Amino acid sequence: MPSAPAPLAVNGSRLWETIMASSRIGPGRIETGLRRLALTDADREMRDLFVHWCRDAGCAVTVDRMGSIFARRPGTDESLSPVLIGSHLDTQIAGGRFDGILGVLAGLEVLRTLNDAGIRTRRPIEVVSWTNEEGARFAPPMLASAVFGGVRPLEWALARVDADGRTVGEELARIGYAGSAPVGGRPVDAYFELHIEQGPLLDDKGIPVGVVTGGFEVRGVVVEVRGETAHAGPTPMARRRNALVGAAMLVVALNEIGFAYSPEGKATTARIEVWPNLPGILSDWARLTMDVRHPEAATVDRMLADLRRAMADCATRGQVEMSIVETWQFGSERFDSELVDLVRRTAARLEAPSLDMLSQAGHDAYYVSRVAPTAMIFTPCEHGISHNERESCTLEDCVPGVNVLLHAVLERANR
Ligand SMILES: [Zn+2]
Repeated sequence: MPSAPAPLAVNGSRLWETIMASSRIGPGRIETGLRRLALTDADREMRDLFVHWCRDAGCAVTVDRMGSIFARRPGTDESLSPVLIGSHLDTQIAGGRFDGILGVLAGLEVLRTLNDAGIRTRRPIEVVSWTNEEGARFAPPMLASAVFGGVRPLEWALARVDADGRTVGEELARIGYAGSAPVGGRPVDAYFELHIEQGPLLDDKGIPVGVVTGGFEVRGVVVEVRGETAHAGPTPMARRRNALVGAAMLVVALNEIGFAYSPEGKATTARIEVWPNLPGILSDWARLTMDVRHPEAATVDRMLADLRRAMADCATRGQVEMSIVETWQFGSERFDSELVDLVRRTAARLEAPSLDMLSQAGHDAYYVSRVAPTAMIFTPCEHGISHNERESCTLEDCVPGVNVLLHAVLERANR
């Protein structure tokens, strides 16, 4: 009896070669690291190569006003809205080779596989690389997808500045990616994003596919601390109003809040800025970038209330003033149940073990989900290490997820 034909599968070695070619652009401090901050020369080099690959695969490439790159493989009915696959090609300052990159290049591999097999789909399929997902150079993260999803205005996003005062708009023009296509505002049938998990669950359990149903609630704040400059020598301890000390107290307090809600709860101070930050003088200004995360919104509210109490306490003890000057939130989005189910069913059909899970990191998919049905697929990364130059995964880790992406996209694109 003839056996059933093997299901269509991506070309793993080609995918791996493509990822390794990306790994040579924007070298980090060690061989496995990448430093490819958004809109730098390294980012431009990666973008040029990605555009070249996409044109080689027969795609039409457009760039929108936020510099996001869309590579379109036509459908047999061009009047239908496209299926979108995407993620990001920028990295953290000490980033790895897979975070975001795997999702974009897996999308490209899906198109190449369909080309090889001579398969035409009813709907067009587009692969997108979003600008400035990491937010490592221009805050906040997920900047271009926020505009696409209607969360932030275009002009506001183009005016974000880096540490040297250069704007997103200027840097897009400088590297030749200030596109003319409008940002969003067109129908999208479905958005799929494949990403390494960035946590240890899949790796620990030896499960290749994470079916992401939504995200942890994340609330971010920027806290400003006001003190007073004074001489480091003669100023009596009781009279000091050192903003650096108040800020340090709050950093420790927030960390303790994280422990109080662990293991599910997480609390982070990611950044401290201080002025004048020099020897011999107390600081009169500090700014802290902080966030709290938990799967339940009500608990995140309690963590934030704890943080506000800690602010009052640290301000009193440090003789400084503290206020929240900026807030953001994401992760309350729940992905489209039909698409999530499609991912789950596809994994089962391909006999790839899968696990339903929530994302604990921010992703472009959150913002896109506000304007299009969205689903995410996670693949394992070694020990869950990410935002680290040792971030690692193997071809065997990611191929099952990429094949799930291929078949889920194929089914949706023939709808
Ligand atoms: Zn990422």
